[in-house]
Amino acid sequence: MTSTLGRMRHLREGSFNGKSVLYWMVRDKRANDNWALIEAQKIAIDNNVPLEVCFNINNNYSESNLRQYDFLFKGLQEVEKTLDDLDINFHLLLGPTYIKLPEFIEKNKVGHLITDFSPLKVYKNRLKKVFENTQIPISQVDAHNIIPAWITSDKKEFAAYTIRPKIKKLLPEYLTEIPKIKKHPIKNKNSSKDILWGKILKSLDLDESVKPIDWIKPGEINAKTHLSKLKSHLIDYNLQRNDPNLKKLSNMSPYFHFGQIAPQRVAFEIKNSTLPFEDKEAFLEEMIVRRELADNFCLYEKNYDFFDGFHFWAQKTLNEHRNDERDFIYSPGKFESAETHDELWNAAQNEMIIRGKMHGFMRMYWAKKILEWSPSPEIAQQTAIELNDKYQIDGRDPNGYTGIAWSIGGVHDRAWFERPVYGKVRYMNFNGCKRKFNVKSYIEKNQNKS
Ligand SMILES: Cc1cc2nc3c(=O)[nH]c(=O)nc-3n(C[C@H](O)[C@H](O)[C@H](O)COP(=O)(O)OP(=O)(O)OC[C@H]3O[C@@H](n4cnc5c(N)ncnc54)[C@H](O)[C@@H]3O)c2cc1C
Repeated sequence: MTSTLGRMRHLREGSFNGKSVLYWMVRDKRANDNWALIEAQKIAIDNNVPLEVCFNINNNYSESNLRQYDFLFKGLQEVEKTLDDLDINFHLLLGPTYIKLPEFIEKNKVGHLITDFSPLKVYKNRLKKVFENTQIPISQVDAHNIIPAWITSDKKEFAAYTIRPKIKKLLPEYLTEIPKIKKHPIKNKNSSKDILWGKILKSLDLDESVKPIDWIKPGEINAKTHLSKLKSHLIDYNLQRNDPNLKKLSNMSPYFHFGQIAPQRVAFEIKNSTLPFEDKEAFLEEMIVRRELADNFCLYEKNYDFFDGFHFWAQKTLNEHRNDERDFIYSPGKFESAETHDELWNAAQNEMIIRGKMHGFMRMYWAKKILEWSPSPEIAQQTAIELNDKYQIDGRDPNGYTGIAWSIGGVHDRAWFERPVYGKVRYMNFNGCKRKFNVKSYIEKNQNKS
């Protein structure tokens, strides 16, 4: 089997003493191209025991909504089926993680727990509690980044130009074909139960006003089909990706966010495709360097979602302009209902609410204007995070917290010319957008017709 090159780190070492291995699936919700599952299977085979996989619904993820859970559940249903065909049982554990995981481990005499990796605090805290409430060996595998986040760098990187050479140096070793998961030789026939997905979904206290989306289909199979089309869709990505009318982006972010496809698979296929060099380079820069930089920021900056996580120069300049008079001030509610004076901003907000995915270029404008029209940078950041996490199908992601910190707090950016409210944080305006693309057409396409 191909070496996993330090993708797995041991959080608690110890000898195997049990009757099964458990992969606690958190971020990488797929059966194929999943290094955490590959490692878990290797340990199970070495110890001649069944392999179990679980996903936990904690029930206290505030403000969860139907849009996100519909995408999540459909993807997980497919995982359950694929794993079943491989003689691996899948379990949905409902309730507090720190109780449900230890209970499962005890009941199934789990001898080694493997989990995947997310730099977000909510997952770090859950893992910490599971660690404290168990004694068995625990290992973590970065199945999301092409190069494990802890290997790329051991510190918070300053900007893309500081992480890029580190990634480029390691990439030839990591960006390879991924081994296939095998039919598991030992199955625990007693441990699996039918999961009543529809009933469970209905029982969760979800915000149903945020509706599921149907322009992109969830799950691993759909993600793979989507990838196969990208090999022609991305022609002219380099020149056209900043025009929100042209739909040139890959739309890979929902699949990445829900872990339904491995970024390594996408990068590997695109790198080996016949796409023009410039398009390939531009796309791989975004999906490797920028995406892995966002994970680096959230891993090493505990305040990734607060003002204190901004660069020092940005905090200083924003503090100096804290009391500047704003031309407009909107409450979070006015932003949410797209009731600003700016039709372009309202259109972007509508695109996010209705379609569930705002164009990447508009996300920058959208967040910067929230800074300009909020009473303080702190309120602006929290407003942007709340709206982003609620409506974007790819929300609650390191890319989101980092993108907002970039737009409002200059993270990974440099100081620009000083101006009111923004200080030296990079500014964007309506006329700049007008020069770049057909603003009128974008506004017309994103009217709220309800
Ligand atoms: C204010 C703001 C909020 C954002 N919120 C999110 C979010 O909640 N979730 C999210 O996944 N991305 C977020 N981004 C980053 C980026 O806008 C999206 O990843 C991108 O628009 C997703 O669409 P795509 O996959 O079609 O993009 P493509 O242009 O096709 O990019 C391919 C992939 O590259 C990565 N990528 C592209 N741009 C960036 C970037 N600026 N930073 C990090 N990775 C990038 C993503 O993984 C993306 O899926 C945000 C950016 C900003 C400025």
